[in-house]
Amino acid sequence: MEPGAIHLVRINTGEDLLDGITEYVTGAGIQAAWLTYLGAVSRASLRYYDQGQRIYRDFELDQHLEVLSGVGNVSLLDGAPFVHTHAAFAGSDGKAIGGHLNSGTTVWALEVRIQELIGDPLIRDPDDCTSLSLWGGTL
Ligand code: ZN
Repeated sequence: MEPGAIHLVRINTGEDLLDGITEYVTGAGIQAAWLTYLGAVSRASLRYYDQGQRIYRDFELDQHLEVLSGVGNVSLLDGAPFVHTHAAFAGSDGKAIGGHLNSGTTVWALEVRIQELIGDPLIRDPDDCTSLSLWGGTL
C-alpha cells in the first residue's frame, strides 16, 4: 500500500468517538488508513479481550478523562470501512488506563489525524487461532 492523503478531523463535543471517526471515513470513501488522535472525553467505554476465554470484557469509565494517545486503523469488514482503535486515558490523578475502544465514548474535544492508504484494501476475515476478525488475504 502507498501513503495517500492526510485528513485532519475534529470530532465535535458530545459525539461518539468511534461513530464520529467511522462516519468521517465512510463519508470520505476511505477504505484503508492508519490514524492517531488526542483530546478529552467525558466518559469512555472500553473492552478487554480475554485471550483465554476468547470473549470481550466490557467496562465503562464514567468520568472526565484526557485522551493520552489513541491509535487505530481502517480496513474492510463485510465490505464496509471498519475502524479498529485502542486508546490510553488518564483522570485527574494522571494514572493511565485504556483498552479497545467501544461505542459509548463521548467526546469532549478530539483531534484526529487520518493517514489514508492507497492500494488493495485490507480485508478482515475470521481468524480461527484468536477467534477475532483479522487482516486476511491481501497481505
Ligand atoms: Zn482491539
